[in-house]
Amino acid sequence: MAARCASVPVMPEGDTIHKVALALRPHVAGVPIRALRLPHGDVPMAAGTRGVAVKARGKHLIVTFGAPGAPPRVLRTHLGMNGSWHRYRPGERWRKSPSDTPHVAIHTDDWVLVCFQPAQCVLYQHPGDLERDPAIADLGPDLLGPGLDLDVVLARARVARNAARAVAEVLLDQRVAAGVGNVYKSEVLFLERVDPWAPVGAIPDLVIRAVYARAAALLAANVHDGARVTAPERAPFGHRLPPGLRHWVYRRAGHPCPRCRAPIAGRPQGPQVRMTYWCPSCQAPLVARPSPPTGS
Ligand SMILES: [Zn+2]
Repeated sequence: MAARCASVPVMPEGDTIHKVALALRPHVAGVPIRALRLPHGDVPMAAGTRGVAVKARGKHLIVTFGAPGAPPRVLRTHLGMNGSWHRYRPGERWRKSPSDTPHVAIHTDDWVLVCFQPAQCVLYQHPGDLERDPAIADLGPDLLGPGLDLDVVLARARVARNAARAVAEVLLDQRVAAGVGNVYKSEVLFLERVDPWAPVGAIPDLVIRAVYARAAALLAANVHDGARVTAPERAPFGHRLPPGLRHWVYRRAGHPCPRCRAPIAGRPQGPQVRMTYWCPSCQAPLVARPSPPTGS
């Protein structure tokens, strides 16, 4: 039986979850677990329960618990828009009120690891239940996973339903490849000079592969402590970005393109109305783009 909390449509970036896994792993893997709380209440834990593993699968954090004589149990959380993991010492004051904020808490002797406001959380009584859950079973290859096979990603991008979809929307589709969120979507397409509105069916294989390879490289460059940076200090386009700027086009509508100085554009895109930022000059359209909404 799985315990679920409310689910909402959300889009964190995959590097966030890999960072969380790296941060939590030393405090959970191989460590005795004293208590586990889910948003609906405490979970009874068998004597001798220990943390076994902490992994990221796309944007899902997977924590496995084991106890002598019992099958491993698996906790899956998804941060969504508002979720966040925190680490406290036992007795330390939490940043949010535990009584007012839905949360997951993993208690050990030395730490309390808290996920506030998870968009999804499921405790599986057997690892096979996790693998059968469509939230995991339908995921494409993790762009931060070992041995990423871009042929597999390309084949998933090429399924019939994607041919007419805009490449920016397909990049967010975790069934093709897991890890890209809204920041990387705009940054990757800018770096590869691809029009975000171009239908995937009109884009050559070489370019699709380059887009996903770039996404994997940018994600990998950000699996460390500190702020997410998709633009290095020295731009490869002959221009320096203003000091402290982390992104090429993301949230920079109206500013000059770092490559060609044309104004960067920003517009909501797709059924989820996620903002897309791009340079209309050096990410020239492959096909006519729908006009922006007028009036109200
Ligand atoms: Zn440009």
